[in-house]
Amino acid sequence: MSQLMSTLQNFLKKQPGNWWHTALDLLLPTRCLLCGLPSGAICICTACKKDLPWTGVHCPQCGLPLNTPGDQICGSCIKNAARITHTVCPLQYCFPVDRLVQSLKFKRQLAAGRVLSHLLCEWVVSHNCDHPDALVPVPLHSLRMFRRGFNQSVELAAYTGKVLDVPLLTGALRRHRNTRAQSGLSRKLRRKNVRGAFYWHGPARPGRHVALVDDVMTTGTTVNECARILKMAGAKRIDVWVAARAVPAGSR
Ligand SMILES: [Zn+2]
Ligand SMILES: [Zn+2]
Repeated sequence: MSQLMSTLQNFLKKQPGNWWHTALDLLLPTRCLLCGLPSGAICICTACKKDLPWTGVHCPQCGLPLNTPGDQICGSCIKNAARITHTVCPLQYCFPVDRLVQSLKFKRQLAAGRVLSHLLCEWVVSHNCDHPDALVPVPLHSLRMFRRGFNQSVELAAYTGKVLDVPLLTGALRRHRNTRAQSGLSRKLRRKNVRGAFYWHGPARPGRHVALVDDVMTTGTTVNECARILKMAGAKRIDVWVAARAVPAGSR
């Protein structure tokens, strides 16, 4: 019977349409997205959660791994004077976190988004991270938004803001230029690629302390450019809250 319910649940969750997901969440028992076994309200079981690739000791500013524990920032952040004060990144972007992110992004599996947001919230609370005045999702270009139908960063920020009681500022930071994928580009080309891609269209000031929310931080170039715009709009401190951080091979 439980096998049948699981199959039905998986089949229906693959069907397009938001209302299916909401209805299923109410009608069917919650199962772990990674192993299929029954789970609590959030769709990940205790065993799978324990086995996730959690970030170890890392630079508080950019989230990249450090060899020694402590509060010091990495050499790259010292050299490049990063605009980000603190990067909150509970997970490394590798299996099975990549599957959760891709399920949210490309299959619009909102339960995967809830798992990622929930883990982010738990991390913020357990590590006593400072709460910002507002959460600002990293925007998608309108063309990509039209194609995809939603912005995964908004989903994550909305859930996180609700749980942690932090206001959400959507539509204020905007993207007026679509950018090519950052992977494979040098640092200089990555910066050039996103330079001028964003603008501020919000209230006079975004708040003194804001946190940019995204699903994954890859190189950090995009959030740094967003931070530049937020600083110009009047923010004094910018943090980054992402579910996962891409870590270069060999650093894991
Ligand atoms: Zn599981
Ligand atoms: Zn760093």
